[in-house]
Amino acid sequence: TALLEIAQLDKSFETPKGVTQALKDIRLSVKEGEFITVIGPSGCGKSTLLKIIAGLDTQHEGVVKLAQEQVSGPGIDKGFIFQEPRLFPWLTVEGNIAANLSLKDATIRQRVQELIRLVRLEGFEKSYPRELSGGMAQRVAIARALLRRPKVLLLDEPFGALDAFTRSHMQEVLLDIWQENKTTMMFVTHDIDEAIYLANRVVIMNARPGSIKRIVSIDLPY
Ligand code: ADP
Ligand code: ADP
Repeated sequence: TALLEIAQLDKSFETPKGVTQALKDIRLSVKEGEFITVIGPSGCGKSTLLKIIAGLDTQHEGVVKLAQEQVSGPGIDKGFIFQEPRLFPWLTVEGNIAANLSLKDATIRQRVQELIRLVRLEGFEKSYPRELSGGMAQRVAIARALLRRPKVLLLDEPFGALDAFTRSHMQEVLLDIWQENKTTMMFVTHDIDEAIYLANRVVIMNARPGSIKRIVSIDLPY
């Protein structure tokens, strides 16, 4: 059975200029452990789709189920990575990863240590965000999103702000995480090379807003 099930998903925005249909009749089924990348030109609705799955936007029509349950809001079963890391500047690396949980708790401390190893930030536990490179900061954001072992990791152009070298390094870090943790990944990008390199299945969205009837997905030999 599918981990993520989307059917007849419609989403429109009302603006002073009128109604924009961002998503129309979207249908998508994702199995546990898949690495899905979503590509399509700017404005086709990629971010909107991801935010709906994340439960960050609940104003839509249709079925959006994660582990058989209709998504009704954000929660620990979903991890979200934005283009910018959005770290707390007043917290250290380990503080940012633990977020609102206490590092005084041995279980949490151990989990944070484990994640620091996973994203290869050993030695930077006590560093502050201003002391980190862009790639390192994004690794902290990934670790934070994984803290409570979400069923799915949702990534919205997470490497879009990074230089080419760092970006390719981060792709390897992410693939390692996927292979080690078997976390289901849903990764939005407008970079077709990145989409094809990372995914075991590429989802392609139509260019024209409102004209999206069916999205196409292509399985890649992994
Ligand atoms: P993408 O991520 O593929 O670039 P988006 O999901 O951001 O596309 O946007 C899809 C469509 O919805 C676009 O036409 C965009 O202008 C519109 N849209 C997105 N967010 C809003 C919003 N908050 N208010 C009004 N329109 C929006
Ligand atoms: P990333 O690809 O994660 O951005 P970089 O290519 O910037 O990493 O750096 C590679 C390695 O160099 C890092 O993993 C880290 O060990 C070290 N490094 C990078 N920036 C700093 C820094 N500001 N202070 C100390 N070490 C750093």
